[in-house]
Amino acid sequence: MSKVSSYHSSNPSDPDVYHDHSDCPTGQQIPAANRVSGTGGYRRCKQCTDKG
Ligand SMILES: [Zn+2]
Repeated sequence: MSKVSSYHSSNPSDPDVYHDHSDCPTGQQIPAANRVSGTGGYRRCKQCTDKG
């Protein structure tokens, strides 16, 4: 696993969560154009939580 700075998607149709692992399968689906730094005030993604 690879921990990174918090990021989330700016796309309203994406889940309201943030990620902090570069290898998160959900986070990897966010296109670079929609990827925004920070938590966005969202909860942490479950898959990222499970990764630690
Ligand atoms: Zn995630």
